[in-house]
Amino acid sequence: MTNIIFLGPPGAGKGTQAIRLAEHLGLVHLATGDMLRAAVADGTELGQQAKTIMERGDLVPDELVIAMLMERMADASKGVILDGFPRTLPQAEALDEKLSGQIDLVLLLEVPEDELVERMLGRGRADDTEEAVRNRLVVYQEQTAPLISYYGDKGLLQPVDGVGDMNTIQQRITDAVSQSAAL
Ligand code: ADP
Repeated sequence: MTNIIFLGPPGAGKGTQAIRLAEHLGLVHLATGDMLRAAVADGTELGQQAKTIMERGDLVPDELVIAMLMERMADASKGVILDGFPRTLPQAEALDEKLSGQIDLVLLLEVPEDELVERMLGRGRADDTEEAVRNRLVVYQEQTAPLISYYGDKGLLQPVDGVGDMNTIQQRITDAVSQSAAL
């Protein structure tokens, strides 16, 4: 069983790279942002609760996101590539409990802030207005960035330069994975 987490600010390219790595390793890719957008599009109860929160660029409450993710992890016995989760310390702790601490690697995709803003504004989704984008960066610094030392202290963190073309970044990630002691 192999479990890898993608960590990094919004707009860092976690989605693209997580899909590629999941294919490469034959693992399931789970992206909480995609799941939440699907719930919004389907108009489920969760989607209705999440919609305005996401449009503001805030985080959906931990208990909702944790429940949603745990349901989907049930059929991933070979392991998962997590993209966009965990985003808070309580989420990280819930994940540790679920996996009994079996996390192999945390890839931190690093991109400078001015480039993040430019990338996100170019995407033009409902949650990519300038105001929401700025808020998401603040939320990242306040609520998600503490996970860098959380996983760093466990010796799991591997920073990856997220600037460059997608294939170059993919190669950096593949190298980081093959150099990881746990894999
Ligand atoms: P990005 O690709 O820009 O990092 P995502 O697609 O991962 O963004 O997430 C979009 C939005 O979905 C977030 O801004 C947040 O509102 C919500 N969301 C996604 N994952 C989580 C999570 N783990 N906890 C709380 N909210 C989340």
